[in-house]
Amino acid sequence: MSPAPLESFDDDPRVGDTVLSETQIAERIRELGRELTADYADERPLLVCVLRGAYAFVTDLAREIDLPVEIDFIAVSSYGASTRTSGVVRLVKDLDVDLTGRHVVLVEDIVDTGLTLRYLRRSLEARGPASLEVCTLLARESADLEGLGVRYVGFTIPGEFVIGYGLDVDERYRNMRHIAVYVDPGV
Ligand code: 5GP
Repeated sequence: MSPAPLESFDDDPRVGDTVLSETQIAERIRELGRELTADYADERPLLVCVLRGAYAFVTDLAREIDLPVEIDFIAVSSYGASTRTSGVVRLVKDLDVDLTGRHVVLVEDIVDTGLTLRYLRRSLEARGPASLEVCTLLARESADLEGLGVRYVGFTIPGEFVIGYGLDVDERYRNMRHIAVYVDPGV
């Protein structure tokens, strides 16, 4: 018996126009990796991955950093099972590593309103890291990146809700290799 084919998203009507191809994502992550390698030369940065959306990004990013990086995970919940923010951020899983004196890079999937980031920054800064920078794969054009102190940005994108490469709707589409606009069947 031949194995079942991998899930294909080609015929899924909820997967809209491509926003970023697999190649575009890979190339940009290579650049970000080079930047981080230069900026953290002789250090041992700790990548703090914000679950679950940034899981794909952090694995690819870490492999493009030519330094002895460490990775830990933190999980927050802000959206629940919809595509609208609830306006409330809740810590769902905390880090295992002690941040005292560490050079921390917070790795995010997307900065939208900045609510999640503000919450996380406050929480992590209180733990006494030597430094804390933010690296996000995506940021909305509308986001105040300077005000939020975001140092590394993969791409800025417009307001449409997107899926793929870690980003979900109701836990689906995280394993899609590219990033696409989500076509809401209710609209
Ligand atoms: P913020 O707190 O900045 O408004 O929202 C950040 C979080 O909202 C992200 O980490 C992500 O989980 C979710 N989010 C914001 N925009 C999108 C989007 O276009 N697609 C998906 N799948 N999640 C998003």
